[in-house]
Amino acid sequence: MEGPIMIKTEKVLHLNSSKGRKVRVVREHYVREQVPCGSSLCQADCLNDGKVLSGDVTHYVVPDVGVVRDFLEILEFRELQGIVFTQTAYQSVQHTRGRRHYNRLRALLKDPRHDCVLFANEFQQYCYCPRDKGESQDKWHTRNVYNAAVWYYNHLAGLQPVVMITEDNDAISEFSALNSGVYVISTREYLLSFWPDLQAAHDLYNSIAQTLQERESEGVEKVYTEHLPAEVLEAGIKSGRYIQGILSVNKHRAQNEAFVRYEGSASKNTELNSDVLINGAKLRNRAVHGDMVVIELLPRNEWKGRTMALTEGQGEEQPLEETQSQPMPSGRVVGILQRNWRDYVVTFPPLEEVQSQSRNSQKILVIPWDYRIPKIRISTQQAEALQDQRVIVRLDSWESTSVYPSGHCVRVLGKAGELETEIQTILLENCIHVPPFSEAQMCYYKKMPVNTEENRWQMASSEVSSRRDLRDTHLVFSIDPKGCEDVDDTLSVRTLPGGKRLELGVHIADVTYFVREGSLTDLEARSRATTYYLADRRYDMLPAVLSADLCSLLGGVDRYAMSVLWELDAETLDVCTVWYGRTLIRSSYQLHYELAQSLLNGEEVEVPELSQLKGSQRDQKLAKLLQALETLTRVARHLRAQRDKGGALELEGVEVRAQLDEEKNITALVPKQPLEVHETVAECMIYANHWVARKIQESFPHQALLRHHPPPKQDFFNHLIDCAKARGFSIDTRSNRALADSLEQAVDPQDPLVNRLLRMMATQAMSNALYFSTGACPEEQYYHYGLALDRYTHFTSPIRRYADVLVHRLLIAAIQLEKEGSLSKPLASNKELEELAQHINNKNRVMKLQDKDSKTDERCVADAVIYAVRANGFLAFIPQYGVKGAVYLKDREGQVVSVDGDGRCEWKAGTLQRYPDRISSCTSTGTHTFYLFSHVTVRISVEPSRCHADSLCLELVSNKPHCPVQPESQPAGRGRSELVQEVVRRAEEASLQAERGRKPKLSREERQFRQSRTPNLYVLLQEISELALLDLSVCQITNTEEQTCTASS
Ligand SMILES: [Zn+2]
Repeated sequence: MEGPIMIKTEKVLHLNSSKGRKVRVVREHYVREQVPCGSSLCQADCLNDGKVLSGDVTHYVVPDVGVVRDFLEILEFRELQGIVFTQTAYQSVQHTRGRRHYNRLRALLKDPRHDCVLFANEFQQYCYCPRDKGESQDKWHTRNVYNAAVWYYNHLAGLQPVVMITEDNDAISEFSALNSGVYVISTREYLLSFWPDLQAAHDLYNSIAQTLQERESEGVEKVYTEHLPAEVLEAGIKSGRYIQGILSVNKHRAQNEAFVRYEGSASKNTELNSDVLINGAKLRNRAVHGDMVVIELLPRNEWKGRTMALTEGQGEEQPLEETQSQPMPSGRVVGILQRNWRDYVVTFPPLEEVQSQSRNSQKILVIPWDYRIPKIRISTQQAEALQDQRVIVRLDSWESTSVYPSGHCVRVLGKAGELETEIQTILLENCIHVPPFSEAQMCYYKKMPVNTEENRWQMASSEVSSRRDLRDTHLVFSIDPKGCEDVDDTLSVRTLPGGKRLELGVHIADVTYFVREGSLTDLEARSRATTYYLADRRYDMLPAVLSADLCSLLGGVDRYAMSVLWELDAETLDVCTVWYGRTLIRSSYQLHYELAQSLLNGEEVEVPELSQLKGSQRDQKLAKLLQALETLTRVARHLRAQRDKGGALELEGVEVRAQLDEEKNITALVPKQPLEVHETVAECMIYANHWVARKIQESFPHQALLRHHPPPKQDFFNHLIDCAKARGFSIDTRSNRALADSLEQAVDPQDPLVNRLLRMMATQAMSNALYFSTGACPEEQYYHYGLALDRYTHFTSPIRRYADVLVHRLLIAAIQLEKEGSLSKPLASNKELEELAQHINNKNRVMKLQDKDSKTDERCVADAVIYAVRANGFLAFIPQYGVKGAVYLKDREGQVVSVDGDGRCEWKAGTLQRYPDRISSCTSTGTHTFYLFSHVTVRISVEPSRCHADSLCLELVSNKPHCPVQPESQPAGRGRSELVQEVVRRAEEASLQAERGRKPKLSREERQFRQSRTPNLYVLLQEISELALLDLSVCQITNTEEQTCTASS
């Protein structure tokens, strides 16, 4: 016989149409004898290319259609191995559960870290059975899955036990009686018998099972209007009747106010140049913050205004007097294109409430940590036990008959208020997934290169011969913050023979040599995308043997690098030639900023690398180093001046870093001195990033990963322009150059804070810089507004950022293309690259969000400056701590702030009057006016919250400055470090008190980081996470790239 035999049959499917109608589809169906089994134990000669199941497990498991549909989350546990997904289950999920669920299953099957395969059982002649007359679709599916399991067992000649799991009890008794060798059991029994210790899976099972049970008894009364079907939405968007955008809920008015950002030219509705307001829950129609929605504009007479009054942080249920701005375009949600649900951290309501709620039903309304997410209905019998816990909940559905969405518990995080719980909460709420170490991961760490005392890592001879060797020719050094372990970047500079040319070199860790594309390390790094720094710990993108050792360009050891070398005219500093390539380096000096600056200042300092040397030898080396530093400074000044001419912006940034002792305790937060050498290093990195961007874009005009910073929308500058005007300055925002110049001019000699505040407002008006693929964006949009460069990318931090890893690969490909005229491996397509760019953008946005809410824990009095006026108060900036907040002039009883002769404030009956640049309170004692930029005294306190993050409260103490403004009396951030020290001290005291009398049992983390578990440390942590993020990864988290390294006062 020749070729595979194909037998034609018919397959009848019943699908749901988008309108909810049942549709009968008849498909021709071909079966054949040879279908790959995907197991390494295969006893036949299956063509198993791609992923295969490990033979090294105790059994294989075949989940039924219903199990894959409802309990996929359990199958996602990495502990579960040897899973055979049948084509029957796979297709059924596609038809019944929608794209999100289907994509998760696909991702699971693709992920090499999960031991599971897809078996095309319906094409296998001996597996497939046509549907019997009168047989229900579910029964038929289950029979097919069972047949597949039996086939599998026989195909492997009984070498491996096979278990089928199903939720169909009839099937269990029917198939169990057949004695085919395949065990048929329920999911619950499977978990109990095979995974008795995997508690998380048991909990998740119970939670999902309960939710499924509840769903059967739902009400029918409609609370919301139905969403329109997808094809109607699409047609509506095309015709301009509907608008598509991302729903963004106002955190301070979460119940009522949400906006949809209208997306540029995507809409035909030309009248629109602002966001669209979605007012109230009815019009929001079950859309959740972050969803991609479709809206319809309301008629003009129904438009509402933005609320201009300040609202309390948790002011959810609070009635507010309506103080609205001009009516703005308003709309209603008619459909949802894509849900953007994630895992949410929630808290259970207080016990009394639980009892009253659960009298009527099994459902409990839990409160998400994120204000923007509505309460979620979940079914659980553990409401009492979970009282003080933070729990992760996943949303399942939001029917039009239900006021709130329904979800189920996934996992308990821990007791609210405990440090570890709160850290996990912050990470989760920011979509940072740092999965705990699993077996699979430990395996992949074992494959890492080794560098130990007994077993020294050595360079491969093939690499030594193929790379340009700079070890003897170039004086290479690094300049980093004190105590930096992951040295991404090093520098060199020298005068070339003849003296007419200089050579500047930037040498970056050659991470891609160690992290091969598609390897497990690569996949893990890609899903992490960046290194996350919290004050006392970090979550690395790469394993430590790479990030802190073999990739790190440490002093005195041989390392692989990716180098960019520029030959510059020694006089004009114009670029003559540029060389890119792989090199060998050995860094001579591992300097820190303060040391490098002291050397430049001509101070007498000890360079550790030279401490063993004596006399002239030492002097010679020192002179050579100093000369290099001086030349570098001169080059960097020139480069900076070039960019300044182009309109580079210098914006407001916070400059503090956490100082850790040897045991990684936080000892203090120290202000970073504004040193020129910071700028020098940053400038060289910007230069390298710029030239690499040029190189890869030239080589790959349609698939290079670049980074751009779109110019801000002009109306975002209105606040800045108005505020500056109130102070007599005019700000020109027509270009970055004009903005930079006019900000430079807007200086009040009496009050340096004015300029700082204006720069802060300018920063806020900016959009974020974003990664993009050159094929996805017209060339005129490549421009980086903040840096004033026509091309930019990220090349210089491959240890900490995944984007840089991609760029390294592109650069290597570009060099190869130039040398050999072809590529050994195809590049990622534009589309793939664009998807990756999106992924990294999301991760980075998350990092930025993390640092938004600053909190402090000390009750204290401080000076504040008014920077925006609202209907019932103003927003103030506290320079001492670098935090912002709302100050109310009207309380809940309607009383307003009155000021006595000494400037002290108290509450009295009266009224408020708001003007563009000031707000007046009118009481029996007279009228008191608060102007933009005036200084007042406030008391700062922290409002604890049970369900959410603690929030900062500012209370007006006096309308006079707290202490007279003394320009440069103390460096910015100094007070903040004292504040944090104070909090650390109090936390330690509290924990001492708590621990006294009983033997402290420290967890591994606690021993490692010596952090106590008291609630107020949490606040400290948030504070510090912001600072540490800012300091250690400035390039990723500030709005406008590296120039925020510069001074802030
Ligand atoms: Zn086989």
